[in-house]
Amino acid sequence: MAQTDPTPNRNNYDVVIVGGAIMGSSVAWFLASNPDFQGRVLVVERDPGYGSCSTAHTNSCMRQQFSAPINVKISQFAADYVKRFREELGDERVPGIHTHFFGYMYLAGDDTFAGHLRRTVSMQAQSGAGTVLLTPDEIAARFPFYRLDDILLGAFGTRDEGYFDGGTMFDWWRRKARERGVEFTANEVVAVERQGDRVTAVQLASGERIACGWVVNAAGPRAARVAAMAGLALPVEPRKRYTWVFEAERPLGQDLPLTIDPGGVHVRSDGGYYMAGATPDHDPAVEPDDFAADHGLWESKVWPALANRIPAFEAIRVVNEWVGHYAYNTLDQNAVLGPDDRVGNFLYANGFSGHGLQQSPAVGRGIAEWIATGGWQTLDLSPLGIGRIRRGERLDEAAII
Ligand SMILES: Cc1cc2nc3c(=O)[nH]c(=O)nc-3n(C[C@H](O)[C@H](O)[C@H](O)COP(=O)(O)OP(=O)(O)OC[C@H]3O[C@@H](n4cnc5c(N)ncnc54)[C@H](O)[C@@H]3O)c2cc1C
Repeated sequence: MAQTDPTPNRNNYDVVIVGGAIMGSSVAWFLASNPDFQGRVLVVERDPGYGSCSTAHTNSCMRQQFSAPINVKISQFAADYVKRFREELGDERVPGIHTHFFGYMYLAGDDTFAGHLRRTVSMQAQSGAGTVLLTPDEIAARFPFYRLDDILLGAFGTRDEGYFDGGTMFDWWRRKARERGVEFTANEVVAVERQGDRVTAVQLASGERIACGWVVNAAGPRAARVAAMAGLALPVEPRKRYTWVFEAERPLGQDLPLTIDPGGVHVRSDGGYYMAGATPDHDPAVEPDDFAADHGLWESKVWPALANRIPAFEAIRVVNEWVGHYAYNTLDQNAVLGPDDRVGNFLYANGFSGHGLQQSPAVGRGIAEWIATGGWQTLDLSPLGIGRIRRGERLDEAAII
């Protein structure tokens, strides 16, 4: 069956995955390759060209610098996984995943954030991450291009932080999942049938009713709509995030770490170019198909912040820009993973808010393990469960970009 075929081969599956971008494809691959799982899997994707999903607009970076230990562990698995990708997929055709680990550099401009960096770097070190604290003099010695007179402290990742080629990972997960029997169908889930504490079927836009044993919500910024179809509330909404690629008249002559300025603008090396990103000051929920750009943001916020921090970036030229959506978890900007607390066969893989690409290997593995065995196996993802959302308990993550 072609990925663009709207009609599934059957009218019942063990697992229906709603959304076939990075998260849906990861779950599909990890299910297909899990020896404890023998069931049939259908991935339903409304946009098989993947033009509007978050995955298509990502910056594709990974970091160890999180404040929640579970997020550090998830990204450590990602770093390890991409290095062993061909081996993991067990296929000589699979290429290596290109990485460019230039490190993240969080810059603290006040005592509060400097204190936060000291605490999190210590936690990250205990988890085995290579983050180091740097004084302004130490930063200047390694990276002489920054202006640092308002900076108190930096935290720099010395390993396994930076760009990775998530696009190749995505392509091969889809391809290998299909080769192992997972069906991808070009259709839209428009309703989820529920009987008490179980979901029993999904309905497709084309009218078919597909009975299923599990529903996995991998619908990205549309996740709350899919949860609502099952009568469930999920505080995830689409929020716009901007990316600019630019060239510099005077390149820096060395890698630019992914630098997070105290004002939130971030910038990094991107091959021979540089890539910057920012959150708009006015940041409402938007429609998932609203990609209208605020062209003033570059000039009013981003370029001034870049030129202030790196004076060489006064003379730059934008060569590309785009708007994408975070699936923004309004409670704590962290993922929501695993079974619903009332509907145990409805599984969330949602709310990634800006760090979903790097979380996709651990999430796909975890959700597949849950379906195959009824519990988290390799990594306990329960800190990211829906329970905290229902209780209103934030899993605080101060290092969201
Ligand atoms: C500008 C930007 C920069 C980012 N940078 C990074 C980064 O550097 N590192 C990082 O780790 N993460 C980053 N992210 C976040 C990351 O890209 C996302 O978390 C990740 O791609 C989410 O993948 P997903 O599969 O959950 O969602 P999506 O990619 O949005 O996919 C959801 C899919 O579900 C489909 N769908 C929705 N509803 C239905 C339905 N009812 N029926 C059928 N199909 C449906 C959609 O068509 C879509 O294809 C960034 C995101 C943006 C926008």
